[in-house]
Amino acid sequence: MTETETRSHPAGDTGKQQNGHVMAETSTVEDVFDHTYKEKDGPKPPMILVWRNIILMSLLHMGALYGLTLIPYASSLTLAWSAVCYLISGLGVTAGVHRLWSHRSYKASFPLRVFLALANSMAFQNDIYEWSRDHRVHHKYTETDADPHNAMRGFFFSHIGWLLVRKHPDVIAKGQKLDLSDLKADKVVMFQRRHYKLSVVLLCFVVPTVVPFFFWGESLAVAYFVPGLLRYTLVLNASWLVNSAAHMWGNRPYDKSINPRENSLVAFGAIGEGFHNYHHTFPFDYSTSEFGCKLNLTTAFINLMCFLGWAKDCRRVSKEMIMARIQRTGDGSHKSG
Ligand SMILES: [Zn+2]
Ligand SMILES: [Zn+2]
Repeated sequence: MTETETRSHPAGDTGKQQNGHVMAETSTVEDVFDHTYKEKDGPKPPMILVWRNIILMSLLHMGALYGLTLIPYASSLTLAWSAVCYLISGLGVTAGVHRLWSHRSYKASFPLRVFLALANSMAFQNDIYEWSRDHRVHHKYTETDADPHNAMRGFFFSHIGWLLVRKHPDVIAKGQKLDLSDLKADKVVMFQRRHYKLSVVLLCFVVPTVVPFFFWGESLAVAYFVPGLLRYTLVLNASWLVNSAAHMWGNRPYDKSINPRENSLVAFGAIGEGFHNYHHTFPFDYSTSEFGCKLNLTTAFINLMCFLGWAKDCRRVSKEMIMARIQRTGDGSHKSG
């Protein structure tokens, strides 16, 4: 077993079955850091603001703030429904477009992929194809000009700013060169992409609003602003914290040479995605963490799906490989270390 797991190029599926999990040694997709890429010298290209996104994001966040003021008027059923919508849209990002489609860290049956695609539309963070492409580029060129949310450009840029300006030309160029054939071959991914706008209108806005209105007589305003806009905005910000806070604050027990960090608060908000030093070191691990279901509702969900027979072949990093990596490149903060 080599210790060059995040240094090697993606190879075929070298996983071998062990304890019901596929023990993985390397990635099967292009999410491995590329040391050969060098940023261009000279001045950076000018930032071009995308006013449409600036206005829409401002309106959304104002709507979410208004939603906050409506919470005292919401029935307990509406609050519970908001939490359910938060979890479903969260899973559409974490178990769906992140761990399944971006990293291929486990396999999902057709019905599960349909559920995750619907949940992903409820989260409205760009369609699965585009999100996965941007995310693979993020891993392959982390914290360089070719990283869509390059954290070297500061908290604001890596959190939301990257969505408010035109992409750096290297992000586009490198994204176009990625192998995305697995996504193109997935009918669920391409169907969601073709019908993305309609699916977002229905799942992110209409369903969260209409359910409390029809089933327990919630006022339309509360139903729209709390489980609708406020829930959507909270899921967005929890996801963005993985790109901003988890690239800035926390320990680096697995690889101190990279910026992504272990951040428990982010793990809590993003239902398991805050173990970010681990995740960038071993991007093919379905749990994105060494610690199973701890602060990791997404792993619990995938485990449940495996139990029900709807998911399989969860890729795990072996304990020995983790320990070897901690010894070799960790910052000494690991409790074993
Ligand atoms: Zn990251
Ligand atoms: Zn990732």
